[in-house]
Amino acid sequence: MALKFNVFHLFSKLKVLVFVTLVLMVLWTAFSYFVDSKQELSKTKSMVEVFRKVTSLMDSQKEAKIESIPVVNSFQGPCPALSPYLRGASKLIFKPSITLEEVQKENPQVAQGRYHPTECSALQHVAILIPHRNREKHLLYLLEHLHPFLQRQQLDYGIYVIHQAGSTKFNRAKLLNVGYLEALKEANWDCFIFHDVDLVPENDFNIYMCDTQPKHLVVGRNNTGYRLRYRGYFGGVTALTRDQFSKVNGFSNNYWGWGAEDDDLRIRVEMQKMKVVRPSADVGRYTMIFHNRDRGNEENQERLKLLRQVSRTWKTDGLNSCSYKLLSVEHNPLYINITVDFSVQPKVS
Ligand code: UDP
Ligand code: BGC
Ligand code: MN
Repeated sequence: MALKFNVFHLFSKLKVLVFVTLVLMVLWTAFSYFVDSKQELSKTKSMVEVFRKVTSLMDSQKEAKIESIPVVNSFQGPCPALSPYLRGASKLIFKPSITLEEVQKENPQVAQGRYHPTECSALQHVAILIPHRNREKHLLYLLEHLHPFLQRQQLDYGIYVIHQAGSTKFNRAKLLNVGYLEALKEANWDCFIFHDVDLVPENDFNIYMCDTQPKHLVVGRNNTGYRLRYRGYFGGVTALTRDQFSKVNGFSNNYWGWGAEDDDLRIRVEMQKMKVVRPSADVGRYTMIFHNRDRGNEENQERLKLLRQVSRTWKTDGLNSCSYKLLSVEHNPLYINITVDFSVQPKVS
């Protein structure tokens, strides 16, 4: 009887021991899991912290670089496909009191209308050609915005203003042909941007480089609700390589007054089996500085007739027939000023 009692007692003690051991094991597992996950959490926290520090360092370096573009670097590799200085969309401000001297001060790296990045070797040499007469204020606003914009894009560029002297009918297309021919006399440009004086780009992801196809950069302007004016619109700002432009024999020289010279160029491009490309709508945005139709640039009544003849005329009317009287080429600090007179040889083509 006593033996039976003892065995029973021993057995129940063993059960308690097993139970306590089990509880301890569960507690230990729970405790170590808690400690582990705490360590993991703090590890994750510190990783986030390191990442934060690195990115903020990169940001501050970026800012420092933007302040002082270009940073001189002995290694002259090619510039990256996408410049690290781009900012995206920005609200444009036009200060009526702005002066040429102020713009000059803001762009100390620009000399004789030209700039090239010193931190890397630019991917393209780009000539900006601006047809001009009697739009001095617009020119000032454009220079103010375009110089920093192009520098942020790390381009090797030159700005040419082609000025039509006298009061004969304005000829935008012929001025641009002159710009192309004269600019190539002084540098081996890869790419030409044909640029109205009153259109200011709003987003620096709108890259002022040429593509494998002719590029139209103005998808939308503020005054037309940022929508493409019509399917074939090819006006305002376009980018063509030296070869693309020469292949179509440039612009026609025969459009005197406002309208259709840009449509004529598009027809030339399409006749050469090239296809117009555009940036996306959120990038190809421009502010047009308001103006009325200029005196001397009245609507060209001949324009539709001329447009119907492009396939017959393009080969003999263009770069190869562009004659003009060159009055001067001045290398100003912020742009190269080419002045031409078309009145002595009107309608020569
Ligand atoms: N332009 C100029 N002076 C003139 C007429 C035209 O400088 O008297 C130039 C200027 O670059 C302008 C471009 O030609 O942006 C196109 O003319 P306009 O602005 O009248 O055309 P729009 O695109 O506004 O119809
Ligand atoms: C003219 C173009 C002009 C466009 C947008 C067209 O009718 O032919 O020269 O750029 O309208 O104003
Ligand atoms: Mn305009």
